[in-house]
Amino acid sequence: MTEASTIHIVGGGLAGSEAAWQIAEAGHRAVIHEMRPVRRTEAHQTEGLAELVCSNSFRSDDPNGNAVGLLHQEMRTLGSLIMRAGDAHQVPAGGALAVDRDGFSEAVTAALAAHPNVEIRREAIDELPPESWGSTIVATGPLTAPGLAEAIRGLTGAESLAFFDAIAPIVHRDSIDMDKAWFQSRYDKAGPGGTGADYINCPLDREQYDAFIAALIAGEKTSFKEWEASTPYFDGCLPIEVMAERGPETLRHGPMKPVGLTNPHNPTVKACAIVQLRQDNALGTLYNMVGFQTKLRHAEQVRIFRTIPGLENAEFARLGGLHRNTYLDSPRLLDATLRLKARPALRFAGQITGCEGYVESAAVGLMAGRFAVAEAEGRPLAPLPQTTALGALIAHITGGHVEAEDEGAPRSFQPMNVNFGLFPPLERMPRNETGRRLRGPEKAALKKRALTDRARADLAAWLGGDAPRAAAE
Ligand SMILES: Cc1cc2nc3c(=O)[nH]c(=O)nc-3n(C[C@H](O)[C@H](O)[C@H](O)COP(=O)(O)OP(=O)(O)OC[C@H]3O[C@@H](n4cnc5c(N)ncnc54)[C@H](O)[C@@H]3O)c2cc1C
Repeated sequence: MTEASTIHIVGGGLAGSEAAWQIAEAGHRAVIHEMRPVRRTEAHQTEGLAELVCSNSFRSDDPNGNAVGLLHQEMRTLGSLIMRAGDAHQVPAGGALAVDRDGFSEAVTAALAAHPNVEIRREAIDELPPESWGSTIVATGPLTAPGLAEAIRGLTGAESLAFFDAIAPIVHRDSIDMDKAWFQSRYDKAGPGGTGADYINCPLDREQYDAFIAALIAGEKTSFKEWEASTPYFDGCLPIEVMAERGPETLRHGPMKPVGLTNPHNPTVKACAIVQLRQDNALGTLYNMVGFQTKLRHAEQVRIFRTIPGLENAEFARLGGLHRNTYLDSPRLLDATLRLKARPALRFAGQITGCEGYVESAAVGLMAGRFAVAEAEGRPLAPLPQTTALGALIAHITGGHVEAEDEGAPRSFQPMNVNFGLFPPLERMPRNETGRRLRGPEKAALKKRALTDRARADLAAWLGGDAPRAAAE
């Protein structure tokens, strides 16, 4: 075994705790710098590590039909402390894994405090970690303290660290009805890397548009938390329902403008408004609804957006939202092992990298810990296959997202949960025993099963063909 190294971790949340555990279990020393209780955030209530600030759910625990359930399984296989504590403090929640938040956080804190390779320092880090620390993981989360956030911004550039997200919904490409929608760029303009047919367009006639505007205005919205309300995000990215409230014609002169586009299914009729969707990932499996950031409740978004022609059966990989959130433009800034290209001794993990959610943040922490260990030991770590949930998530953060090239467009990388749209498509659609072509829910279930079986096989191969039994169970 190589000599033990010391790796510093700033932030003892979901990601930092998991990263520290992976480092300590590999025989290296992990020093966690956590600012609570010396300083609080607007959302955390306790001084426990890995505190869950809102819901107590890790979402679906189904490893065969759900991408986050598969992620749970992969993390258990890799010895995750977050999953171990979650399983030990489970509360009844149907097919979801929900946890007793206090018991969970106490278990994570106790396991780390008792580990001989872990030191926990309660202090706020208000500047960039000193170079003398060497390998350091920054996992300070969506509510990173302002001093450190400003220091990171100084290093990466003002545009590279956002303080809020303005999320437009993302749709699975294969759920869009192309008998109604069509591919075309406005005025057939081929931008950098484009073909002139880069957007998916969904047309609305006057009646459909008027009904859509009325639904947006009447739709139920989520409210801002007190401390979010003062975040100045509204200038560049108004929620679409706010635009609709400014006047019925506002949206068709803004993100829904119908100019420069001709519907090949109905070329003689001019659409009243057009919704455009832009490719969101390099795989071409996900498309985002351009300019559709919104505070509508999730169920309302699904109901209202499915009235758009072509999106009647849309499956959403992500729904819209606006939140206070500190996160990097990771696809540009981080290398494949989550190191800051401008200063490779710094690695980032958790929600600050642009993943979303407790489980995803912990998963990125898990990989950051393993990458740091491999580097400390001077051995290369083969990239995780993108066909696994962990690999799909890391690939998206470190390069899978496709940036919008339109002139004046805001930066388009926005936080996202793990979902099957981040996985490379299957080479062949599976068939059932009868061999006939499948449709609807049966097809969807078989496809998810094939994707998760492929992920398990590829993770086992990555682990040296000897995945622990937990993976198979
Ligand atoms: C209001 C709110 C509600 C949310 N609700 C949900 C939800 O219901 N479900 C869900 O899955 N996700 C939710 N999230 C997202 C969730 O917070 C993250 O997914 C997850 O906690 C991120 O893990 P993390 O480790 O990256 O950050 P965190 O868990 O936030 O951990 C970061 C840690 O870093 C510490 N820290 C920050 N700055 C410094 C500093 N300068 N020096 C030292 N320590 C520092 C903080 O005290 C904190 O302990 C919510 C987020 C917010 C803000």
